[in-house]
Amino acid sequence: MSSTKTIGIIGGGQLGQMMAISAIYMGHKVITLDPASDCPSSRVSEVIAAPYDDVDALRQLADCCDVLTYEFENVDADGLDAVIKDGQLPQGTELLRISQNRIFEKDFLSNKAQVTVAPYKVVTSSLDLEDIDLSKNYVLKTATGGYDGHGQKVITSAEDLEEANALANSAECVLEEFVNFDLEISVIVSGNGKDVTVFPVQENIHRNNILSKTIVPARISDRLADRAKAIAVKIAEQLNLSGTLCVEMFATADDIIVNEIAPRPHNSGHYSIEACDFSQFDTHILGILGAPLPAINLHEPAVMLNILGQHVEAAERYVTENPSAHLHMYGKLEAKHNRKMGHVTLFSNEPDNVVEFGKGIDF
Ligand code: AMP
Repeated sequence: MSSTKTIGIIGGGQLGQMMAISAIYMGHKVITLDPASDCPSSRVSEVIAAPYDDVDALRQLADCCDVLTYEFENVDADGLDAVIKDGQLPQGTELLRISQNRIFEKDFLSNKAQVTVAPYKVVTSSLDLEDIDLSKNYVLKTATGGYDGHGQKVITSAEDLEEANALANSAECVLEEFVNFDLEISVIVSGNGKDVTVFPVQENIHRNNILSKTIVPARISDRLADRAKAIAVKIAEQLNLSGTLCVEMFATADDIIVNEIAPRPHNSGHYSIEACDFSQFDTHILGILGAPLPAINLHEPAVMLNILGQHVEAAERYVTENPSAHLHMYGKLEAKHNRKMGHVTLFSNEPDNVVEFGKGIDF
Protein backbone atom coordinates (compact mmCIF):
# COMPACT_ATOMS: atom_id res chain seq x y z
CA MET A 1 0.00 0.00 0.00
CA SER A 2 1.31 3.43 -0.91
CA SER A 3 2.15 5.74 1.98
CA THR A 4 1.20 8.70 -0.20
CA LYS A 5 -2.45 9.57 0.24
CA THR A 6 -4.93 11.89 -1.34
CA ILE A 7 -6.51 13.91 1.45
CA GLY A 8 -9.81 15.72 0.94
CA ILE A 9 -10.30 18.82 3.10
CA ILE A 10 -13.75 20.33 3.53
CA GLY A 11 -13.15 24.07 3.81
CA GLY A 12 -10.37 26.03 2.16
CA GLY A 13 -9.79 28.90 4.60
CA GLN A 14 -6.56 29.46 6.50
CA LEU A 15 -6.98 26.32 8.61
CA GLY A 16 -7.50 24.16 5.53
CA GLN A 17 -4.59 25.87 3.82
CA MET A 18 -2.19 25.23 6.73
CA MET A 19 -3.38 21.61 7.00
CA ALA A 20 -2.73 21.23 3.27
CA ILE A 21 0.78 22.67 3.59
CA SER A 22 1.62 20.11 6.31
CA ALA A 23 0.16 17.30 4.21
CA ILE A 24 2.15 18.38 1.16
CA TYR A 25 5.42 18.43 3.16
CA MET A 26 4.68 14.81 4.03
CA GLY A 27 4.25 13.90 0.36
CA HIS A 28 0.45 13.72 0.23
CA LYS A 29 -1.87 15.24 -2.33
CA VAL A 30 -4.72 17.53 -1.22
CA ILE A 31 -8.10 18.30 -2.78
CA THR A 32 -10.25 20.97 -1.13
CA LEU A 33 -14.00 21.52 -1.21
CA ASP A 34 -14.87 25.19 -0.83
CA PRO A 35 -17.54 27.46 -2.30
CA ALA A 36 -14.84 29.89 -3.49
CA SER A 37 -12.46 28.71 -6.20
CA ASP A 38 -9.96 31.40 -5.07
CA CYS A 39 -10.05 30.43 -1.36
CA PRO A 40 -6.75 30.45 0.62
CA SER A 41 -6.26 26.71 -0.05
CA SER A 42 -6.40 27.30 -3.81
CA ARG A 43 -2.76 28.44 -3.53
CA VAL A 44 -1.69 24.98 -2.43
CA SER A 45 -4.36 22.49 -3.53
CA GLU A 46 -6.85 21.57 -6.19
CA VAL A 47 -10.32 22.98 -5.36
CA ILE A 48 -13.78 21.59 -6.02
CA ALA A 49 -15.83 24.81 -5.94
CA ALA A 50 -19.26 23.98 -4.51
CA PRO A 51 -21.37 24.73 -1.44
CA TYR A 52 -20.61 22.61 1.62
CA ASP A 53 -24.09 21.05 1.62
CA ASP A 54 -23.84 19.96 -2.03
CA VAL A 55 -24.02 16.19 -1.57
CA ASP A 56 -22.89 15.50 -5.16
CA ALA A 57 -19.77 17.60 -4.60
CA LEU A 58 -19.10 15.84 -1.26
CA ARG A 59 -19.46 12.50 -3.08
CA GLN A 60 -17.07 13.67 -5.82
CA LEU A 61 -14.54 14.60 -3.11
CA ALA A 62 -15.04 11.30 -1.27
CA ASP A 63 -14.65 9.32 -4.51
CA CYS A 64 -11.26 10.83 -5.33
CA CYS A 65 -9.73 10.87 -1.82
CA ASP A 66 -8.37 8.21 0.51
CA VAL A 67 -9.09 10.20 3.66
CA LEU A 68 -11.38 13.13 4.41
CA THR A 69 -11.15 15.86 7.04
CA TYR A 70 -12.70 19.25 7.74
CA GLU A 71 -11.40 22.64 8.84
CA PHE A 72 -14.55 23.80 10.62
CA GLU A 73 -17.31 22.16 12.61
CA ASN A 74 -20.42 23.36 10.82
CA VAL A 75 -20.18 20.71 8.13
CA ASP A 76 -23.36 18.87 7.16
CA ALA A 77 -22.89 15.66 9.19
CA ASP A 78 -25.83 13.84 7.52
CA GLY A 79 -24.51 14.75 4.07
CA LEU A 80 -21.11 13.39 5.00
CA ASP A 81 -22.59 10.20 6.43
CA ALA A 82 -24.36 9.67 3.12
CA VAL A 83 -21.15 9.72 1.06
CA ILE A 84 -18.24 8.48 3.19
CA LYS A 85 -16.99 4.94 2.95
CA ASP A 86 -15.99 2.95 6.05
CA GLY A 87 -13.16 4.67 7.92
CA GLN A 88 -12.77 7.41 5.33
CA LEU A 89 -13.46 10.17 7.88
CA PRO A 90 -11.28 9.17 10.87
CA GLN A 91 -12.62 12.05 12.99
CA GLY A 92 -16.14 10.64 12.51
CA THR A 93 -19.39 12.58 12.35
CA GLU A 94 -20.26 12.08 16.03
CA LEU A 95 -17.60 14.61 17.07
CA LEU A 96 -19.10 17.04 14.54
CA ARG A 97 -22.57 16.61 16.02
CA ILE A 98 -21.25 17.16 19.54
CA SER A 99 -19.41 20.35 18.68
CA GLN A 100 -22.23 21.74 16.51
CA ASN A 101 -24.66 21.90 19.41
CA ARG A 102 -23.86 23.35 22.84
CA ILE A 103 -26.49 21.13 24.49
CA PHE A 104 -24.83 17.94 23.21
CA GLU A 105 -21.39 19.45 23.91
CA LYS A 106 -22.16 20.28 27.56
CA ASP A 107 -23.72 16.87 28.06
CA PHE A 108 -20.67 15.17 26.54
CA LEU A 109 -18.20 17.24 28.57
CA SER A 110 -19.92 16.97 31.93
CA ASN A 111 -21.45 13.48 31.78
CA LYS A 112 -19.23 11.46 29.43
CA ALA A 113 -15.80 13.10 29.71
CA GLN A 114 -16.62 14.16 33.29
CA VAL A 115 -14.67 17.40 33.21
CA THR A 116 -15.73 20.58 35.00
CA VAL A 117 -17.92 23.01 33.04
CA ALA A 118 -19.72 26.11 34.33
CA PRO A 119 -23.05 25.14 35.98
CA TYR A 120 -25.65 25.26 33.17
CA LYS A 121 -29.18 24.44 32.20
CA VAL A 122 -30.90 23.88 28.89
CA VAL A 123 -33.33 26.67 27.97
CA THR A 124 -36.09 25.96 25.46
CA SER A 125 -38.11 29.16 25.98
CA SER A 126 -38.21 32.30 28.13
CA LEU A 127 -40.25 30.30 30.69
CA ASP A 128 -36.97 28.62 31.68
CA LEU A 129 -35.54 32.02 32.63
CA GLU A 130 -38.42 32.99 34.94
CA ASP A 131 -36.98 31.61 38.16
CA ILE A 132 -33.27 32.33 37.74
CA ASP A 133 -31.40 33.66 40.75
CA LEU A 134 -30.30 37.15 39.75
CA SER A 135 -27.76 37.35 42.56
CA LYS A 136 -25.54 35.46 40.07
CA ASN A 137 -24.44 36.46 36.56
CA TYR A 138 -25.02 34.28 33.49
CA VAL A 139 -24.32 33.90 29.79
CA LEU A 140 -27.18 32.71 27.61
CA LYS A 141 -25.93 31.07 24.41
CA THR A 142 -27.85 29.68 21.46
CA ALA A 143 -27.30 25.94 21.13
CA THR A 144 -26.35 26.15 17.46
CA GLY A 145 -24.94 28.65 15.03
CA GLY A 146 -23.12 30.94 17.52
CA TYR A 147 -19.48 31.90 17.02
CA ASP A 148 -17.10 34.60 18.31
CA GLY A 149 -19.71 35.79 20.83
CA HIS A 150 -22.63 35.94 18.34
CA GLY A 151 -25.89 34.45 19.65
CA GLN A 152 -24.96 35.26 23.27
CA LYS A 153 -26.39 37.48 25.97
CA VAL A 154 -24.72 38.21 29.29
CA ILE A 155 -27.27 38.53 32.12
CA THR A 156 -26.16 40.61 35.11
CA SER A 157 -29.48 42.23 36.11
CA ALA A 158 -33.24 42.14 35.48
CA GLU A 159 -32.78 44.71 32.68
CA ASP A 160 -30.90 42.13 30.62
CA LEU A 161 -33.83 39.73 30.74
CA GLU A 162 -35.83 41.36 27.96
CA GLU A 163 -33.13 40.63 25.37
CA ALA A 164 -32.39 37.27 26.96
CA ASN A 165 -36.07 36.27 26.79
CA ALA A 166 -36.18 37.20 23.10
CA LEU A 167 -33.07 35.08 22.45
CA ALA A 168 -34.53 32.18 24.44
CA ASN A 169 -37.75 32.33 22.42
CA SER A 170 -35.89 32.43 19.11
CA ALA A 171 -33.77 29.29 19.54
CA GLU A 172 -32.80 26.52 21.95
CA CYS A 173 -30.13 27.82 24.33
CA VAL A 174 -27.93 26.92 27.26
CA LEU A 175 -27.75 29.20 30.26
CA GLU A 176 -24.32 29.12 31.88
CA GLU A 177 -23.19 30.70 35.09
CA PHE A 178 -20.71 33.49 34.40
CA VAL A 179 -17.19 32.40 35.31
CA ASN A 180 -14.99 35.05 36.94
CA PHE A 181 -11.86 33.73 35.31
CA ASP A 182 -8.31 35.05 35.62
CA LEU A 183 -7.28 33.92 32.16
CA GLU A 184 -8.71 32.28 29.08
CA ILE A 185 -6.54 29.36 28.03
CA SER A 186 -6.66 26.55 25.49
CA VAL A 187 -4.93 23.27 24.90
CA ILE A 188 -4.36 21.56 21.56
CA VAL A 189 -4.41 17.78 21.61
CA SER A 190 -4.06 15.36 18.70
CA GLY A 191 -4.95 11.70 18.46
CA ASN A 192 -4.43 8.87 15.99
CA GLY A 193 -7.34 6.74 17.19
CA LYS A 194 -5.11 5.00 19.77
CA ASP A 195 -2.64 7.44 21.31
CA VAL A 196 -2.69 11.16 21.93
CA THR A 197 -0.10 13.92 22.07
CA VAL A 198 -0.64 17.24 23.80
CA PHE A 199 0.70 20.76 23.22
CA PRO A 200 1.70 23.38 25.83
CA VAL A 201 -1.06 25.46 27.46
CA GLN A 202 -1.88 28.66 25.57
CA GLU A 203 -3.11 31.92 27.09
CA ASN A 204 -5.58 33.75 24.89
CA ILE A 205 -6.48 37.43 24.79
CA HIS A 206 -9.61 38.39 22.86
CA ARG A 207 -10.77 41.79 21.57
CA ASN A 208 -14.43 42.09 20.60
CA ASN A 209 -14.70 38.32 21.07
CA ILE A 210 -12.04 37.71 18.41
CA LEU A 211 -8.70 36.16 19.35
CA SER A 212 -6.06 38.88 19.26
CA LYS A 213 -3.00 37.46 21.04
CA THR A 214 -1.83 34.05 22.22
CA ILE A 215 0.97 33.68 24.78
CA VAL A 216 2.74 30.35 25.25
CA PRO A 217 3.26 29.01 27.82
CA ALA A 218 0.20 30.44 29.58
CA ARG A 219 1.05 32.38 32.75
CA ILE A 220 -0.54 29.91 35.16
CA SER A 221 1.02 27.64 37.80
CA ASP A 222 2.58 24.34 36.72
CA ARG A 223 -0.10 22.57 38.74
CA LEU A 224 -2.93 24.25 36.80
CA ALA A 225 -1.11 23.77 33.49
CA ASP A 226 -0.76 20.04 34.18
CA ARG A 227 -4.43 19.93 35.08
CA ALA A 228 -5.42 21.72 31.85
CA LYS A 229 -3.38 19.27 29.79
CA ALA A 230 -4.80 16.29 31.66
CA ILE A 231 -8.34 17.56 30.96
CA ALA A 232 -7.57 17.88 27.23
CA VAL A 233 -6.12 14.35 27.19
CA LYS A 234 -9.16 12.99 29.06
CA ILE A 235 -11.53 14.53 26.50
CA ALA A 236 -9.42 13.23 23.60
CA GLU A 237 -9.34 9.72 25.05
CA GLN A 238 -13.09 9.73 25.64
CA LEU A 239 -13.50 10.58 21.93
CA ASN A 240 -10.87 8.10 20.65
CA LEU A 241 -9.66 11.22 18.93
CA SER A 242 -8.26 11.19 15.41
CA GLY A 243 -6.71 14.47 14.31
CA THR A 244 -6.39 17.73 16.22
CA LEU A 245 -8.83 19.13 18.78
CA CYS A 246 -8.71 22.38 20.74
CA VAL A 247 -10.13 22.58 24.25
CA GLU A 248 -10.96 26.14 25.32
CA MET A 249 -10.99 26.69 29.07
CA PHE A 250 -11.14 29.30 31.82
CA ALA A 251 -8.43 29.39 34.48
CA THR A 252 -9.45 30.69 37.90
CA ALA A 253 -7.08 31.00 40.87
CA ASP A 254 -7.39 27.30 41.68
CA ASP A 255 -9.47 25.61 39.00
CA ILE A 256 -9.83 24.90 35.31
CA ILE A 257 -13.31 25.08 33.75
CA VAL A 258 -13.92 23.82 30.22
CA ASN A 259 -15.78 26.26 27.96
CA GLU A 260 -15.95 24.48 24.61
CA ILE A 261 -14.19 22.22 22.15
CA ALA A 262 -13.28 22.75 18.50
CA PRO A 263 -12.70 19.49 16.60
CA ARG A 264 -9.90 20.84 14.41
CA PRO A 265 -6.72 22.93 14.51
CA HIS A 266 -7.40 26.27 16.16
CA ASN A 267 -6.24 29.87 15.83
CA SER A 268 -4.71 29.68 19.32
CA GLY A 269 -2.40 26.86 18.12
CA HIS A 270 -0.85 28.68 15.15
CA TYR A 271 2.29 29.51 17.15
CA SER A 272 3.13 25.77 17.03
CA ILE A 273 4.26 26.11 13.38
CA GLU A 274 7.50 27.80 14.44
CA ALA A 275 7.57 27.43 18.21
CA CYS A 276 7.11 23.65 18.51
CA ASP A 277 8.96 20.81 16.86
CA PHE A 278 5.68 19.71 15.20
CA SER A 279 2.73 21.98 14.46
CA GLN A 280 -0.94 21.36 15.28
CA PHE A 281 -1.41 20.90 11.51
CA ASP A 282 1.37 18.29 11.27
CA THR A 283 -0.16 16.26 14.09
CA HIS A 284 -3.62 16.67 12.57
CA ILE A 285 -2.44 15.07 9.33
CA LEU A 286 -0.45 12.35 11.14
CA GLY A 287 -3.45 11.70 13.39
CA ILE A 288 -6.07 11.31 10.68
CA LEU A 289 -3.72 8.95 8.84
CA GLY A 290 -3.34 6.82 11.99
CA ALA A 291 0.43 7.44 12.07
CA PRO A 292 2.50 7.45 15.29
CA LEU A 293 2.43 10.83 17.02
CA PRO A 294 5.51 12.66 18.32
CA ALA A 295 5.81 14.18 21.79
CA ILE A 296 5.61 17.97 21.48
CA ASN A 297 8.33 20.32 22.71
CA LEU A 298 8.16 24.11 22.83
CA HIS A 299 11.45 25.57 21.59
CA GLU A 300 11.04 28.92 23.35
CA PRO A 301 8.23 31.06 24.82
CA ALA A 302 6.24 32.52 21.96
CA VAL A 303 3.58 35.09 21.15
CA MET A 304 1.13 35.01 18.25
CA LEU A 305 -0.68 38.12 17.06
CA ASN A 306 -3.65 37.96 14.71
CA ILE A 307 -3.76 40.29 11.73
CA LEU A 308 -7.30 41.43 10.96
CA GLY A 309 -8.35 43.30 7.84
CA GLN A 310 -7.80 46.68 9.51
CA HIS A 311 -4.29 45.66 10.69
CA VAL A 312 -2.64 44.61 7.44
CA GLU A 313 -0.56 47.75 6.96
CA ALA A 314 0.49 47.87 10.63
CA ALA A 315 1.57 44.22 10.39
CA GLU A 316 3.60 44.85 7.25
CA ARG A 317 5.40 47.73 8.96
CA TYR A 318 5.92 45.59 12.06
CA VAL A 319 7.76 42.83 10.22
CA THR A 320 10.05 45.25 8.43
CA GLU A 321 11.03 46.61 11.86
CA ASN A 322 11.10 43.12 13.48
CA PRO A 323 12.52 40.79 10.83
CA SER A 324 12.72 37.86 13.26
CA ALA A 325 8.91 37.81 13.50
CA HIS A 326 7.35 35.11 11.32
CA LEU A 327 4.68 36.60 9.08
CA HIS A 328 1.89 34.41 7.72
CA MET A 329 -0.58 35.89 5.24
CA TYR A 330 -3.42 33.62 4.14
CA GLY A 331 -3.82 34.97 0.61
CA LYS A 332 -7.33 36.38 1.13
CA LEU A 333 -8.16 38.80 -1.63
CA GLU A 334 -10.25 41.29 0.33
CA ALA A 335 -9.09 42.82 3.64
CA LYS A 336 -12.49 43.25 5.31
CA HIS A 337 -12.85 44.73 8.82
CA ASN A 338 -12.31 42.01 11.47
CA ARG A 339 -11.54 39.36 8.84
CA LYS A 340 -8.57 37.18 9.81
CA MET A 341 -5.98 37.94 7.12
CA GLY A 342 -2.85 36.48 8.69
CA HIS A 343 -0.82 36.20 11.87
CA VAL A 344 2.65 36.81 13.22
CA THR A 345 4.58 34.53 15.57
CA LEU A 346 7.62 35.65 17.49
CA PHE A 347 9.73 34.36 20.33
CA SER A 348 9.58 36.49 23.45
CA ASN A 349 10.06 36.18 27.20
CA GLU A 350 8.25 39.48 27.68
CA PRO A 351 4.79 38.90 26.22
CA ASP A 352 3.37 42.10 27.73
CA ASN A 353 5.83 44.07 25.62
CA VAL A 354 4.54 42.50 22.41
CA VAL A 355 1.78 44.93 21.46
CA GLU A 356 -1.27 43.70 19.59
CA PHE A 357 -1.91 45.23 16.17
CA GLY A 358 -4.31 48.11 16.38
CA LYS A 359 -4.26 48.22 20.18
CA GLY A 360 -5.75 51.51 21.26
CA ILE A 361 -6.44 52.47 17.66
CA ASP A 362 -8.80 50.17 15.88
CA PHE A 363 -10.46 47.38 17.84
P1 AMP B 1 -17.79 31.09 23.38
O1 AMP B 1 -18.54 31.39 22.13
O2 AMP B 1 -18.46 30.07 24.26
O3 AMP B 1 -16.34 30.77 23.10
O4 AMP B 1 -17.76 32.45 24.22
C1 AMP B 1 -17.13 33.63 23.72
C2 AMP B 1 -16.46 34.37 24.84
O5 AMP B 1 -17.43 34.76 25.83
C3 AMP B 1 -15.42 33.54 25.62
O6 AMP B 1 -14.16 33.59 24.98
C4 AMP B 1 -15.42 34.24 26.96
O7 AMP B 1 -14.63 35.42 26.93
C5 AMP B 1 -16.87 34.66 27.14
N1 AMP B 1 -17.62 33.62 27.88
C6 AMP B 1 -18.26 32.57 27.37
N2 AMP B 1 -18.84 31.82 28.32
C7 AMP B 1 -18.57 32.42 29.49
C8 AMP B 1 -18.88 32.14 30.87
N3 AMP B 1 -19.65 31.08 31.22
N4 AMP B 1 -18.39 32.97 31.82
C9 AMP B 1 -17.64 34.06 31.48
N5 AMP B 1 -17.32 34.38 30.20
C10 AMP B 1 -17.77 33.58 29.22
